Amino acid sequence: MAEKVGFIGLGIMGRPMAKNLIEAGYDLVLYNRTREKAEELAEEGASVAGSPKEVAEQSDIIITMLPDSPQVEEVLAGENGVLQGVSEGALIVDMSTISPVVTEELSQKAEERDASMLDAPVSGGDVGAIEGTLSIMVGGGEEDFERAKPLFDVMGDTVTHVGPSGTGQVVKAANQIVVALTIEAVSEALVLGSKGGVAPEKILDVLSGGLAGNKVMEVKREKMLDHSFDPGFRIELHHKDLGIALAAGREYGVTLPVTAIVDQMLETLKMRGRGDRDHSAILTLIEESSGHEIGR
Ligand code: NAD
Repeated sequence: MAEKVGFIGLGIMGRPMAKNLIEAGYDLVLYNRTREKAEELAEEGASVAGSPKEVAEQSDIIITMLPDSPQVEEVLAGENGVLQGVSEGALIVDMSTISPVVTEELSQKAEERDASMLDAPVSGGDVGAIEGTLSIMVGGGEEDFERAKPLFDVMGDTVTHVGPSGTGQVVKAANQIVVALTIEAVSEALVLGSKGGVAPEKILDVLSGGLAGNKVMEVKREKMLDHSFDPGFRIELHHKDLGIALAAGREYGVTLPVTAIVDQMLETLKMRGRGDRDHSAILTLIEESSGHEIGR
């Protein structure tokens, strides 16, 4: 018999991921803090539970897709949480981006209940979630990974088991460092080139052809050239992710000097009311401090 799947957290990412699982024929039981979101999706052919504990009581595999570490801790280990309802042999799959340290703690708590846990954060954004083409990086046991693999294959197209518990989150943090620092570097290059008299389009065209070429210049090109910063990936979420990276660095004894600077730049953007803008709006901070808007 196919395993029954619980899904908790039906936001920008979780909703389309759960929808794809329903469409693939899985029997889902849903929970979201705002109940209407679960009820609306249940019309596609799923049931709704009254608490994370109830989800766990009815499921073999429980997926969570929540904003940050405190919410995952609350939903798994809090009152009426998943761990109060799990049966022996259940598998928890946390697909949120959270702290690897918190992940390891929760994984141990799951083991104490004779259940197991995978961390399986994703990249690919809302479009990847809708299209089922996410990149999924998974930490945890090999057998658990194989058990969840058919579900991952519905939600994503690059699914990689990277190591033991917490390592999926470590890889995601590494990913978020590279993306943020690349956006920052492209922003500096654009403002320097533009204020120096070169058309910003030309800067991107030329740099794309050499070692400086990167995906940010391709994917964020229009947003940066047009100053159209509708998200995409919000500054406040990326700020959360760099916080996770810096905390992990402190825990593991790793220095992340430039990550710390870009973290402060994202904080500044949040304080200036741009937390809900796309992360490519880092450009605006370099423009403001340089007194120059690119292309002007
Ligand atoms: P979101 O805020 O849209 O969705 C979170 C959902 O969780 C909401 O429906 C909210 O009601 C629900 N929720 C919050 N607290 C809850 C609680 N205590 N109990 C039950 N439900 C609760 O966020 P999102 O954009 O879907 O992101 C989810 C995770 O995925 C985050 O960790 C984010 O960093 C990560 N992520 C997001 C993107 C993206 O492009 N949005 C890309 C990759 C990874």
